[in-house]
Amino acid sequence: MSTSEKIWMNGELLDWQNAKIHILSHVVHYGSSTFEGIRCYDTEKGSAILFLDAHVKRLYQSSKIYRIEIPYSEEELKEAIIATIKANGHKACYIRPLVIRGQGALGVNPTMAAIEVAIATWEWGSYLGEEVLETGVDVRVASWARLAPNTMPTWAKAGGNYLNSQLIKMEALMDNYAEGIGLDVNGYVAEGSGENIFVIRDGIIYTPMTGQSILPGISRNAVMTLARKFGYQVQETLIPREALYIADEVFMTGTAAEITPVRSIDKYPVGDEKRGPITEKLQSAYLDVVRTGNDPENWLTFI
Ligand code: PMP
Repeated sequence: MSTSEKIWMNGELLDWQNAKIHILSHVVHYGSSTFEGIRCYDTEKGSAILFLDAHVKRLYQSSKIYRIEIPYSEEELKEAIIATIKANGHKACYIRPLVIRGQGALGVNPTMAAIEVAIATWEWGSYLGEEVLETGVDVRVASWARLAPNTMPTWAKAGGNYLNSQLIKMEALMDNYAEGIGLDVNGYVAEGSGENIFVIRDGIIYTPMTGQSILPGISRNAVMTLARKFGYQVQETLIPREALYIADEVFMTGTAAEITPVRSIDKYPVGDEKRGPITEKLQSAYLDVVRTGNDPENWLTFI
């Protein structure tokens, strides 16, 4: 991971190496944090942040679920994000706003711990690899289920949730797969360790419902809107595991992964084992916005 010069922390721009927390911070022991992953693109019309409002809104909602009160307004945080990018002189970068429960208590009860807020930015290429946007990735179904309803809220993008994601990701990588697909506790398809999933069969685009142990992805939302605009039928529905094995096309979406085609699942070939035509159409519309800066859907915030 490349470093940058500055990290915004609790209202100040600090040198990267000075943005520290104490070992006895609540978050270190109990995973009590919320965060976002956002991208800033170097478009032909200048640097622009993709889906800034939606990401900041989700950060506040994730925090609300955990009764974390962020001591800044959404507007202040957006300004701080832009200031951090500028301070680091990035044209394009990944942006990581993070809210943690810090020092002040070491029992499970988090309410005595101070809330700390940080924003880091760094230059980061394609998450699953540059070439895979075209060739697709090989994935497996994870042996670990995603979080069950009424256990850990998957609508909150919270640090602790990613322990489950880590198990899924490590298992996949150890077996030479790029990613693992988590099923929900009932065995229906949920999502990747850090991506939502779409399954296409007979021209219809299926994706798991938001109630099904998934993070309601912001890229997922944008892709559904695009697909409907193109005239495709998009169904949010229960997807059984076997639907993955007879799909014509499968792709994953996420801020980091963008739109990544899947070429095989559990060694079953998906379609022609390369990016399918519907995936390509959606991917090129998405990438066109972030590369050219032409923004018909109002996705971009130019900085
Ligand atoms: N699911 C999980 C578990 C994720 O971590 C992510 C990445 N934030 C996504 C889905 C995709 O969400 P988004 O499109 O908002 O990045």
